[in-house]
Amino acid sequence: MKTPSTDSTPHSDFIRDIIREDLRAGKNDGRVVTRFPPEPNGYLHIGHAKSICINFGIALENEGGICHLRFDDTNPSKENIEYIESIKSDIRWLGFDWGRHLYYASDYFEKLYEYAVQLVKDGKAYVCSLSTEEIREYRGTLTESGKDSPYRTRSVEENLDLFERMRAGEFEDGSHVLRAKIDMASPNLNMRDPVLYRIRHESHHRTLDKWCIYPTYDFAHCLSDSIEGITHSICTLEFENNRPLYDWILDQLNVDCHPQQIEFARLNLSYTVLSKRKLLELVEGGYVTGWDDPRMPTISGLCRRGYTPEAIRDFCEHIGVAKSNSVVDIVLLEHCIREDLNLRAPRVMAVLHPLRVIIDNYPEDQVEELDAQNNPEDPSMGTRRVPFSRIVYIEQDDFREDPPKKFFRLAPAREVRLKHAYYIKCVRVVKDEGTGKVIELRCRYDPATRGGWSSDGRKVKGTLHWVSAAHALEAEVRLYHHLFTKANPYDVKDGSDFKANINPNSLEKLTSCQVEPSLVDAKSGSIYQFLRQGYFCVDSVDSRHGTPVFNRIVPLRDSWAKIEKAQKKNS
Ligand code: ATP
Ligand code: MG
Repeated sequence: MKTPSTDSTPHSDFIRDIIREDLRAGKNDGRVVTRFPPEPNGYLHIGHAKSICINFGIALENEGGICHLRFDDTNPSKENIEYIESIKSDIRWLGFDWGRHLYYASDYFEKLYEYAVQLVKDGKAYVCSLSTEEIREYRGTLTESGKDSPYRTRSVEENLDLFERMRAGEFEDGSHVLRAKIDMASPNLNMRDPVLYRIRHESHHRTLDKWCIYPTYDFAHCLSDSIEGITHSICTLEFENNRPLYDWILDQLNVDCHPQQIEFARLNLSYTVLSKRKLLELVEGGYVTGWDDPRMPTISGLCRRGYTPEAIRDFCEHIGVAKSNSVVDIVLLEHCIREDLNLRAPRVMAVLHPLRVIIDNYPEDQVEELDAQNNPEDPSMGTRRVPFSRIVYIEQDDFREDPPKKFFRLAPAREVRLKHAYYIKCVRVVKDEGTGKVIELRCRYDPATRGGWSSDGRKVKGTLHWVSAAHALEAEVRLYHHLFTKANPYDVKDGSDFKANINPNSLEKLTSCQVEPSLVDAKSGSIYQFLRQGYFCVDSVDSRHGTPVFNRIVPLRDSWAKIEKAQKKNS
């Protein structure tokens, strides 16, 4: 296995404490076997990354530890190969490797059927012929006990015969189900004779038309864990109430391996939704361009946006593992990617909203190649040369005709530094006669300030990024904002659903940006810091040589660092 974690401090949380204690007590012959068990019914999201980091992480931390990748593929109608392939590639991208331990619940269909037959023979399961609605009615509620199905008393022989004929395809979908015979009065609804098998005349992506009955998730899940010899079945809190059912099934069947289930709180992230079903609605409804839309909280969306596996793993470490549900502020994720990219992203200059500046006293035909450091955080990343000439672009925002207090950038008669280049002073403002909008600035430069430093010690307060108009490359830049307008997208008025909170302005496309010419060779997926603006990634789908498209990963402003600072102050 690859070892993604570079952190040498041992992790600690309640799950790892349990495992450590089990090892100390000599349980499971000292083995640690975990698994990540996705249903292949969508693409993985950052919540899954948390589970992946826990399960694969624990296996890596324990000598001889193993983490299986198992597709819980028991629902033929919602699953497909595209999802399987994407899940595998996302896990690898995150830096984890299941080695030879790739499994499918569908590989156990025969074994699961045998287990079900055993339950029938032992009088622990019966074929029920109530309709789906009737089963629901008979189940009762949290405050009301359920009612026994009239089919609960069928004889073992009759049940065996019917179950066999269910498998043989003699019955229509929905006409019968196999149910566990537990307790219709149990306070835990999961224990009120749950369905174990249903009839579905549907092709499965792996077993094709071999089966027309399929096990339910609950029946297949606990037994798949047992078949694989999983020692610790780590799952999210919603499954706490399923644990008694899993224990019941495993106990009745007297299996050799009875994994210990441990529940942890699922990840919730502000301004987004973490549910494959909801994300599928966004894809199918055309609210995003696909599962890998850079606004999506999917692994493939984050990857296309420019997030790195390191940053995502770091995020998962930061949030830790807890037993109670909470919502993590999305600024923490943004903080993690900034920390990672600050050290490795080369700096370049790019003007997103260009304003033309003519330097009147700069010779018309002159071009200078100026030295620029690639990353001041890491001098080993070297320098590059940036062309400078008489006409440059600066950001529209970097000029104010009537500068407010503390605005230290360019203004009439004011001098600022062009990064790596010269001091310039604004001598004239050219406006559009009709609209009054500033369309061009005339400036003068001081030749004695080459490199951006004055020899007479004269200081300027503002430093601007720029590009030479004659050399710049035109680019498209996509700025992304939160996918939802509310921190909690589920906070809706009566009758509407989470989609009512979709942010209609989550994508801002800027099409005439001007970037420095060194970016002409920028490769798909390459990441840069655009000076003073943020981190940007060459889009892997839409970018072309000569007409690059950049995704903004995050702006530079680190609201998390601010919050952290304030917290430190207060503590
Ligand atoms: P979704 O609601 O997005 O479909 P799921 O739980 O149905 O999620 P599975 O494919 O069954 O998705 O999940 C595989 C594993 O990932 C499970 O062990 C599940 O507990 C875990 N997981 C899913 N969502 C999260 C989350 N938000 N935080 C942590 N773990 C998660
Ligand atoms: Mg699920």
